[in-house]
Amino acid sequence: MVKEFTPDRYSRQLPLIGEEGQEKLQKSTVLVVGAGGLGSSVLLYLAAAGIGRLLIVDRGYVDLPDLNRQVLYLESDLGKAKARTAAERLGKLNSSIEISGYAISTSDSQFEALVEISDVVVDCLDNWTSRFTVNDLAVKYVKPLVHAGVQEFYGQVTTVIPGLTPCLRCLMPRAAETSGIIPVLGFTPAVLGAIEASEVVKLLVWGKPSLAGQLLVVDLKNMEFSKIKIVKRPDCPACGVRDKVPTS
Ligand SMILES: [Zn+2]
Repeated sequence: MVKEFTPDRYSRQLPLIGEEGQEKLQKSTVLVVGAGGLGSSVLLYLAAAGIGRLLIVDRGYVDLPDLNRQVLYLESDLGKAKARTAAERLGKLNSSIEISGYAISTSDSQFEALVEISDVVVDCLDNWTSRFTVNDLAVKYVKPLVHAGVQEFYGQVTTVIPGLTPCLRCLMPRAAETSGIIPVLGFTPAVLGAIEASEVVKLLVWGKPSLAGQLLVVDLKNMEFSKIKIVKRPDCPACGVRDKVPTS
């Protein structure tokens, strides 16, 4: 059941999105896949903005090296399951929304059902194999997918609108697997996650994300931001066939 929202809580954003926009956020279900560095940033801002129903998927546990960037967690959370811990922490930030944590992987059969019931899916993952699973389900159920990836001082963001824009398999034909630990400073996923949250809010309130079909490339070392147009691959195994217009 969708809860009523308290206008005073959102008084600093209501002039921007209106009560109608706030109601749209309150009625929305957003699935955040990955509750690490990106996920911490995305989830804090989406919970604070008043997304009515947040679904969090992460099968990991809080580890000491996570704390340089995964700002959802405290030292007292070490060893705890991330999905449930994140849900509890966010519940203390905003008790007027519904938050559920799922300690499952993207290959779990329950995951597909979560994509199906969501209005937007947010990719906060750290590997392309899982990303492709999420991408293919988002294309299958025609759910907007906001993607980000980070490494060192760098990151990228794009929004996939199935049927309209290229998908993640168009962007990256093969899973680029990184070996070993990816070095990263905490502010990189914080910035990229906040940009993902802005895409989600714009999608839900106005139906107009800024990065549909465009890849925002962020270099925080030199403080350079650039946008690159992404092209659909006609032979894309995920969206190429589905979106193909019959010629006869
Ligand atoms: Zn594609």
